[in-house]
Amino acid sequence: MGSFWIAQILVGSVYLRLRKNRCKIMKVMKFGGTSVGKPQRMKEVAALITADNESKIVVLSALSGTTNTLVEISNLLAVNDRQNARQCIDSLEQHYNHFVGELLTDINIVQKAQRVLAEHFEFLSIILKISFSEALNKDILAQGELLSTKLFSLYLEEIKVPHKLLPALDFMTLDTHDEPQVGTIKVKLAQQLQRNPDIKIFITQGFITRNAKGEVDNLKRGGSDYTASLIAAAINASVCEIWTDIDGMHNNDPRIVSITRPIEQMSFEEAAELAYFGAKILHPASIWPAQFYNVPVRLLNTMDASAKGTLITEQAGSTGVKAVAAKDYITAIRIKSSRMLLAYGFLRKVFEVFEKYKTSIDMITTSEVGVSVTIDSDIFLPEIRKELEAFGTVEIDTNQSIVSIVGNEINDTPDMMRRLFDAVSGIPVRMVSYGGSRHNVSLLIARAYKEQMLQALNAGLFGLDES
Ligand code: ADP
Ligand code: ASP
Ligand code: MG
Repeated sequence: MGSFWIAQILVGSVYLRLRKNRCKIMKVMKFGGTSVGKPQRMKEVAALITADNESKIVVLSALSGTTNTLVEISNLLAVNDRQNARQCIDSLEQHYNHFVGELLTDINIVQKAQRVLAEHFEFLSIILKISFSEALNKDILAQGELLSTKLFSLYLEEIKVPHKLLPALDFMTLDTHDEPQVGTIKVKLAQQLQRNPDIKIFITQGFITRNAKGEVDNLKRGGSDYTASLIAAAINASVCEIWTDIDGMHNNDPRIVSITRPIEQMSFEEAAELAYFGAKILHPASIWPAQFYNVPVRLLNTMDASAKGTLITEQAGSTGVKAVAAKDYITAIRIKSSRMLLAYGFLRKVFEVFEKYKTSIDMITTSEVGVSVTIDSDIFLPEIRKELEAFGTVEIDTNQSIVSIVGNEINDTPDMMRRLFDAVSGIPVRMVSYGGSRHNVSLLIARAYKEQMLQALNAGLFGLDES
């Protein structure tokens, strides 16, 4: 046999082995709190996940309102207000009893659901008796997603949909820097999936994870989107669908301006900027895993499944301004030092202070005599201030908002800056960041002007006049 044919046979057998070992193609479908917040909605979710025959991992949030209540319970425990904590737990339990009553009918399954509720509410009763700690706080916050997935699984059992509940705590992990690592999740998740080769529908919890110490932890508020994207990256999903209560990413914050329109297509970079700078529809970190592993993301509406929604891929689809978003609770810090600013090494020393306190900087501007930065966490502000004072005068403004204008290549869009500044004239702007990315211009303003600015931009940049 000639060497050409031997090479062909070798390539062929490697290819076949690779195909055999490759995980089956799956998609990820994530449903947020409002999408599962009522028994009827949960039933609609069941219809959506069974509408096609594709293999899928379904990621669920807690029922809407639950995580807020759990945060409240935790806060009450932290100040030792056990009486009010008890009241919150009781009314939450009542809510879940009603929910189960409306969701399930088969008596055997209702009994199983009652046992699930008893188990989780017993846990919440026990914590009333023990002393509060950060680890306990994380355990409390995890109850929402544990409950929603178990109840959903029982509903699927009732309507006889074959599926498997995969505990997120068995495969979602954070590293020692509290960052999720797709590689680790991939290995752990593959083990779980391989144990169930015939299952087409897997259900798991969003938001919750284990940390490097093996304790229960979470991906921060709104973190179920992040779970979905991490899973989609880990299994190289065909698509990561984020099902929510609106028909995709809109051009402006619908909670603040009354006329907004959905965006059909945008790039990962645009979506990541919008998510990071305040578009609540996506968790701030939820785009990078999908982007890195090139998994398309679709934002879809559970209440209107036929709406186009937003497709997020490498392609932006168009150039120019696409959307604006705002991020609150920003602190601006100005360091003035005529002596040192232009000396090389000065900025490094300033940045090292923020690095030391693990506080990330969002915006930065410089002048001859000073540098201004913004941060979104005040936890170490006193320490940071003290150390910066060694370099010059430090001025701090709290309660600021970053308003970001995002769009593919907006920095190259003619007339963009004139239209932007015409639109916001009359609103005092504390900082402007332009050129850091080709897709973003950010303005820092006092929080009090946020609504006015978003409305002005809606009219000036999108021609959507509220008046
Ligand atoms: P879920 O519970 O499904 O995760 P969220 O409440 O976290 O849903 O996110 C959806 C909400 O995000 C919408 O109801 C909307 O009010 C808000 N939102 C803020 N900015 C935007 C935007 N630019 N486009 C769409 N929705 C936005
Ligand atoms: N239940 C969590 C929260 O409310 C996570 C999520 O909904 O994405 O923050
Ligand atoms: Mg959300």
